[in-house]
Amino acid sequence: MHHQPERRAFLTGRINRPLAMRPPGALDEEAFEDACTKCGDCAVSCPQDIISFDTDGLPTVDLSVAECTFCNVCAEVCAPKAIDYADGWDWRAGVDKTCLSANGVTCRTCEDQCDAQAIRFKLQTGGRSEAQFDSDACTGCGACAAACPSGSITFFTKKSSNPEGKAKSC
Ligand code: SF4
Ligand code: SF4
Ligand code: SF4
Repeated sequence: MHHQPERRAFLTGRINRPLAMRPPGALDEEAFEDACTKCGDCAVSCPQDIISFDTDGLPTVDLSVAECTFCNVCAEVCAPKAIDYADGWDWRAGVDKTCLSANGVTCRTCEDQCDAQAIRFKLQTGGRSEAQFDSDACTGCGACAAACPSGSITFFTKKSSNPEGKAKSC
């Protein structure tokens, strides 16, 4: 049967809810919700311990805890193949207005953590600077989010313009 994502989203109260950050390689959201048995094997197996569960009992990645190393362990242990490591990861990092540098407090923590060198700072007036993220260079690993002292890193995907919930500081 042809799926109707909008209708399903409406019926399940999911309209306008930000897209959840599922483990890397997870099937598209609707297929993932159908396939995942909520066994928790991915979460207990993740070496970074960054997988927790949403209110529906489905696994979500929290990059404010630590970066994802894209090790594929979560995919390897997922018996129903709700996570398939052949698939990509299209989350990319950005920043919200609570960024310390944007508010005149010098901080380059995210830039220092970014192996991909995807973050640059553009100087502005009043001792402020704007963090600029190169979404082509960014791998979405979350090293910046885990390190950010003000929890200012946000994530977005091409699938959803809604930013994922603000990453919390650790
Ligand atoms: S790819 Fe590895 S580090 Fe990333 S969520 Fe899966 S198990 Fe954890
Ligand atoms: S291992 Fe697979 S089926 Fe089990 S909770 Fe994780 S995603 Fe769901
Ligand atoms: S998510 Fe990773 S690659 Fe992207 S800006 Fe942050 S540290 Fe760099």
